[in-house]
Amino acid sequence: MKTSKIVLIGSGMVGSTFAYTVLLRGLVHELVIIDANRAKAEGDALDLNHGLMLAKPMKIYAGDYPDCRGADIIVITAGAAQRPGETRTDLMSRNVAIFDSIIKQVIQHNEDGILLIATNPVDILTQVALKLSGWPKSRVIGSGTLLDSSRFRYLIAERLRVDPRSVHGFIVGEHGDSEVPVWSSLNIAGVIPDAAANQSRWNLDERAKDLIYEETRGAAYKIIERKGSTYYAIALALARICEAILRDQHSVLAVSSYLENYHGVHDVCLGVPTIVGRNGVEEVLEIPLTEKEMALFLASAEKLKQFLKQIGF
Ligand code: NAD
Repeated sequence: MKTSKIVLIGSGMVGSTFAYTVLLRGLVHELVIIDANRAKAEGDALDLNHGLMLAKPMKIYAGDYPDCRGADIIVITAGAAQRPGETRTDLMSRNVAIFDSIIKQVIQHNEDGILLIATNPVDILTQVALKLSGWPKSRVIGSGTLLDSSRFRYLIAERLRVDPRSVHGFIVGEHGDSEVPVWSSLNIAGVIPDAAANQSRWNLDERAKDLIYEETRGAAYKIIERKGSTYYAIALALARICEAILRDQHSVLAVSSYLENYHGVHDVCLGVPTIVGRNGVEEVLEIPLTEKEMALFLASAEKLKQFLKQIGF
């Protein structure tokens, strides 16, 4: 039996929470932790190993770039964290430089794995990783708007008093301020909740929608103000993407990948519903958008393209 292996690069708040999620879920046989702060990687590996008797067998250790050999997935959460009030795009230049050094070292030791990026601004850095690695676009994935979609579904679920897993809907575009809620295809058991819903049970008026969207979009800022950074839900999102890949689940997840002619959008990585399986991105799904949603999506793409231009990608 082929054993499965994840290399985590960046064992900060997001990375170490992801590592813990991997352990709790028994997702892989081998988990390697790399961090510029070697002591932190070693400390996390020790701490996680001390739970093995209480979890599932797994080999966990602090490593270095040669340990990327044979990895199925290389998850990158290394970088500078968002400061209070700082937009994700402000982080861009600091993290592009970090990626330049990381990706060059990864590709020296691995040529057929999948890169999974979480560092912000995630769509930009997914594109930077794609270009620097030279890997096929199906094997370079960003966490995209999966976390935003999860926040969106949670807020809708709270309002309509259903399980978030029973809410089907997506946030698309940038993981950031220009993200777009796709209200037109949101549904619960096939019912589209809106002001005109024929049962009051599913009533969602424009004011409620605006509040849900604002709360979704502002979620990271709100958490950062209160506790400095966000990490539980993103760790779960990363583990969910890894699970879809390792178990070849063909799951539809709003991840970020390189788009070519998606509603006319080219040459930019953005989060949209995507079938994810053993080969990474299996198919990017062009979901219907209303005129208003389309205009917002195009504006989100344009915003990212301008940033990419500024950094020469
Ligand atoms: P953190 O500061 O706690 O951790 C970052 C880690 O990266 C540190 O341990 C640091 O030592 C390490 N690091 C820095 N440079 C490195 C290098 N060159 N090589 C290896 N390791 C290096 O930050 P965090 O809270 O874990 O956040 C990490 C990133 O994840 C940030 O960019 C943050 O904005 C992003 N994030 C993304 C999402 C999302 O939805 N995509 C959600 C939350 C956070």
